[in-house]
Amino acid sequence: MYKYAFLLIVAALFTAPSAHALQAFACEPEWGSLLTELGGDTVQVDVGTSALQDVHVIEAKPSLIAKVRRADLVVCSGADLEVGWLPQLIKQAGNPKVASGPGYFLASDQITTLEKPSKLDRSEGDIHPQGNPHFQLDPYRVLAIAKALDARLAELDPPHAAQYRQRLADFTTRWTAAIGKWEAKAAPLKGRKVVVHHLSWVYLNTWLGLEQIGALEPKPGVPPTSAHLAGLVELAKNQHAFAILRAAYQDQKPGDWLSAQTGVPAVTLPFTVGGDAQAKDLFGLFDDTIDKLLAVAK
Ligand SMILES: [Zn+2]
Repeated sequence: MYKYAFLLIVAALFTAPSAHALQAFACEPEWGSLLTELGGDTVQVDVGTSALQDVHVIEAKPSLIAKVRRADLVVCSGADLEVGWLPQLIKQAGNPKVASGPGYFLASDQITTLEKPSKLDRSEGDIHPQGNPHFQLDPYRVLAIAKALDARLAELDPPHAAQYRQRLADFTTRWTAAIGKWEAKAAPLKGRKVVVHHLSWVYLNTWLGLEQIGALEPKPGVPPTSAHLAGLVELAKNQHAFAILRAAYQDQKPGDWLSAQTGVPAVTLPFTVGGDAQAKDLFGLFDDTIDKLLAVAK
């Protein structure tokens, strides 16, 4: 009898409902951070990649498959950014909750993308036919995605709908105030010219009024020719670029080389949450990105 009661208690301990109502898998750290902003302790978040990885090319490892298998919700950039690995993860995980329907959330479905090609031609390099998928550095698009994601959390977990609504309201207030602060601070950057490594800065450039005059990787995934690089050196010098932008995960050598040829500083930006010590969350990501740009804009 006592033994039986003891076993029941032990069983209860091990099957006690988790404090987390939802288990989420985020393909990239920015969406993991956004899920935490909106879900708090109610949503347990696994993040599939780090800021030091190139998310165009991720291996569908068993550890990632296990995380997708236990998820109620998968949140990814979309626009084909993860086309090389996400379909594989979902297939291998065999979890119908996230294969389609409300458990499958693509940020790109919530916004309009820039640089949508008018024609598809492989000679243009490894282009993204659904437009540029690197939109996490536009705070307005992040806000639009936050609203859609919050509605999705409420749809999947109705008992906490009021809590999600409250957290979105709180996030929106803090985020909108931060946008005002960032825009005021970054005003001196307007009209300044940059050279980029990969074509992943169009949203940041458009938001802050930076002008991209060239790219080390002129076609995504295609190595530059020496003629292209020579032209880029001339361009950066003649047009007075103030910075060469690259992400924390990228090879430093091409930017360092161009910097040595031109005297234009190469700036490593976090690109996403976790890209450096300051970019601890979405707010830190934007704070640090603008601080690093201003530091070389003098
Ligand atoms: Zn890309």
